[in-house]
Amino acid sequence: MVQNEAEANGASSSKKLLGLLEGLKRTPVGAVIYDQIARIVDEQEGVQAKVDHVYASLLHLLLNAYARDPSADHITRINARLIQLRRGPIAAGGAPQFTKEAIEEKLSQAASSQFRTEVTDFRVPESRPPPPARSTSPRPETPIPPTPRPGNGNGTPNVKPNGAPEVERRVDTAYRQHLEQQRNEISKLQETLANTVIDAITQNREFGALLQIELRALHQANSDKEVEHLRQILVGGLEELIQGQHSLDVKLHKTGGYLKLIKADSERLHKELNKVRLLSMTDEFTGLPNRRAFVQRLQDEISRAQRYGSPLALAMIDLDEFKNINDMHGHAAGDAILRSYAVDVLTVLRHHDLVARYGGEEFAVLLPNTTQEGAVAAITKAKNRALQVECEFQGRTFKLPTFSTGISLYSVGESHIDLIDRADRALYRAKRLGRNRIELEIGLPPATLKS
Ligand code: GH3
Ligand code: MG
Ligand code: MG
Repeated sequence: MVQNEAEANGASSSKKLLGLLEGLKRTPVGAVIYDQIARIVDEQEGVQAKVDHVYASLLHLLLNAYARDPSADHITRINARLIQLRRGPIAAGGAPQFTKEAIEEKLSQAASSQFRTEVTDFRVPESRPPPPARSTSPRPETPIPPTPRPGNGNGTPNVKPNGAPEVERRVDTAYRQHLEQQRNEISKLQETLANTVIDAITQNREFGALLQIELRALHQANSDKEVEHLRQILVGGLEELIQGQHSLDVKLHKTGGYLKLIKADSERLHKELNKVRLLSMTDEFTGLPNRRAFVQRLQDEISRAQRYGSPLALAMIDLDEFKNINDMHGHAAGDAILRSYAVDVLTVLRHHDLVARYGGEEFAVLLPNTTQEGAVAAITKAKNRALQVECEFQGRTFKLPTFSTGISLYSVGESHIDLIDRADRALYRAKRLGRNRIELEIGLPPATLKS
């Protein structure tokens, strides 16, 4: 409804009514009646005008509330402004019982409760979460009751035959937690970013709509005042668009920086984890795989031997009378001789055999796909090599000590612990029988056992 039109319609129908009654004026009594009717019609028109004015004020304030409501989209706000513009200014005066302030207060109360929306919270953490606790050096592994071993005087750390050492488990857990936490943060970031991008797209679309509406309105505008009003709307829309683009830019920048930090942090952790893993599998002193790595590989090889029925030999080697070397030449010389064994002697074994430092002056050799004869031949080769190698230490040359060997051959169904125990028993026998010799614990050959 347009207020001015309504008023004009009301006024013309009153005039028509009075026009029909013009004839009454011809008699004195009729003239009195006409005057009274004209007065009543006037009064009625006044009341109607007031009612119309109140409605017009209400409508104006409602449109104002829509035009300023931050939760309404651009198009709604622009349309509200355009309707206001077309309705023109409200006539002065108004219903005394509805003051502008009272109505405005009521409307703003209604608007604040009705239009309140949640503002999207772009939560890019200002400070990064504290990194998870990390261990940088391996802890001593949990000792296990040792198998009685001949001549095993030195205690390199023990490892549960089947379990990961505590340090790796802890690092693994911390790393997994850290990754989990970062995954959550990244998915939160992704979600927020997606919302921000959607916001930007919506804003652009709204701006496009604004331009269309503005263009139509400009074509229809027929006064400078109207054009000026449209210009103001356009300027407001542009300012909002620029502001939106700026905040999007800031958010994207922040997110990009944060993702870079997460990536760098993750890479560093990954490297540390690998280092710890490597350390936990290697004997630092000789550079050979340690007992833990050996047991792990032994389990793998047992599974393979079991699956394919291939032979598998295990040799436990213990240097003879090594204590004497330490006693006679000092511990450092003993160390040098041990390294010579690792670097110059046991390297004669085939590259797919696994040589590990199992304990102080003990080595374990895993010989996959190797029969009893093959294993004895391999160890004999190492024995011969030990006779040739000399160890240079602090200007002195040392002959290498001999070693005793116990060999066990895998029997299908046997556990790795039993296989090691049998090799240990053979080694013990070799020591008992005079050292520098190879003893065998063959068990049942794989072919004779049911799979
Ligand atoms: P057996 O022939 O019976 O094996 O005599 P052994 O002296 O070799 O055996 P025993 O168990 O009596 O002593 C082992 C020695 O090996 C004692 C220990 O000090 C020495 N040993 C173990 N690990 C190392 C090491 O890393 N460096 C040095 N220098 N000596 C070690
Ligand atoms: Mg020993
Ligand atoms: Mg020994």
